[in-house]
Amino acid sequence: MKQLNCDVAVIGAGGAGLSAAAAAAAAGKNVVVIDREESCGGVLCQCIHNGFGLRYFNEELTGPEYALRMERCARESGARIMLGETVGSVKRHSDNTLEATLFSAANGVTQLNAKAMVFATGCRERTRANIAVPGDRSAGVYTAGSAQKLMNLTGMLPGKRAVIVGSGDIGLIMARRCRWSGIEVAAVVEILPEPSGLPRNIAQCLRDFDIPLLLSHRCARIMGRNRVEAVEIENLITKERFTFQCDTVLFSVGLIPENELLKSMGVAMNPATGGPCVDGNCQCALPGIFAAGNSLHVHDLVDFASLEARRAGEAAAEYASRGKLPSADAEVSCSKSLKYAIPNKCVPGSACEFFFRPTVSCARAKLTALADGQEIAKKMCISVRPAEMLAMKAEIPAGSAKVEFLLEECK
Ligand SMILES: Cc1cc2nc3c(=O)[nH]c(=O)nc-3n(C[C@H](O)[C@H](O)[C@H](O)COP(=O)(O)OP(=O)(O)OC[C@H]3O[C@@H](n4cnc5c(N)ncnc54)[C@H](O)[C@@H]3O)c2cc1C
Repeated sequence: MKQLNCDVAVIGAGGAGLSAAAAAAAAGKNVVVIDREESCGGVLCQCIHNGFGLRYFNEELTGPEYALRMERCARESGARIMLGETVGSVKRHSDNTLEATLFSAANGVTQLNAKAMVFATGCRERTRANIAVPGDRSAGVYTAGSAQKLMNLTGMLPGKRAVIVGSGDIGLIMARRCRWSGIEVAAVVEILPEPSGLPRNIAQCLRDFDIPLLLSHRCARIMGRNRVEAVEIENLITKERFTFQCDTVLFSVGLIPENELLKSMGVAMNPATGGPCVDGNCQCALPGIFAAGNSLHVHDLVDFASLEARRAGEAAAEYASRGKLPSADAEVSCSKSLKYAIPNKCVPGSACEFFFRPTVSCARAKLTALADGQEIAKKMCISVRPAEMLAMKAEIPAGSAKVEFLLEECK
């Protein structure tokens, strides 16, 4: 078996992994990035629309343009990128070094040894099976992301007339993408009383194309012996049922962080995010193991994923040098109006950036940070919705044991 040694190994060459690699390599470390795909960029490669990079590069880019920029940053910083390599397993030795086993058609099996590892493995889509939609098992049922890949990377069309289930951003973007390619979109059906995607995507992908959005409706059944012929939709308020004729159903019903490798190592997971529990350095409960991007928690924007990953890369580099990081003794919690606050722990006496997912919708809300009951930071948030992540920076006073975040609606 081939052997390879490095200071920092980064698993995943999407927007997050490349950013972590660039940061760790810029700190002078020997960095290896591994991805199972044949090109860098992860999900960015199939996102041919613009809207990427406004915060990270101060420019509006398409997904592939963003990926190219990030790849260049990582390579110019000195990171080595290994493509077409799947990480099949990871283990930790008693001396705290980490070992990943890589599999590839070109190189066979390689053992990669590292002092620190950053996991940036992205997420996968929830499917029809995850939300238990009954009916026929006909052809023509896709997740929105797999239809996006089909259309944008292979140039094939999934069908002629589609119904989109779920108004998450991928579904909205695919509604417009379908229309651009001449596929009729009968409707986007959303179980919640409000859309799940960003307001800009509702405007640019649905309203601009007169695509109906049916809120408080669910897909009750898929019909069609071989190919999809129709879907039955239920209005959850009136209980009325009706059908749409269509040959294609796209599901955009959420994303699941991809963390099988971390779970296999016994890393503590956060049920609110589906990702690992981390401290302010993006370090998991096992020292030397870091996580960032969509595998840590699902991000709306790649820019935030990249900024977070930069922190993970810098911290992994520091860990590789010193074998430890300042201990994160302050526990983080949040009010019920927030689904989660990330990180779960932070280092007293230092600054930390926190990310949140609200559970409520309101026009104006106050976000407050308390350290041991004393207010340390606050900010007004406008147009708060579960679809949009919130962020806040706070200086954590030395000696703090508890940091709590409260989100309160302002009338
Ligand atoms: C349809 C869609 C539209 C979007 N639109 C926008 C937008 O307009 N603007 C915006 O800013 N953001 C947008 N986003 C969000 C943004 O693209 C993502 O949040 C971001 O790109 C995620 O990056 P990541 O590196 O965390 O994950 P990914 O890009 O998923 O990268 C993970 C990588 O890890 C690799 N990997 C996983 N497991 C292994 C393993 N075991 N071995 C080797 N490699 C592995 C995968 O191959 C993959 O390349 C969109 C996302 C989607 C899906």
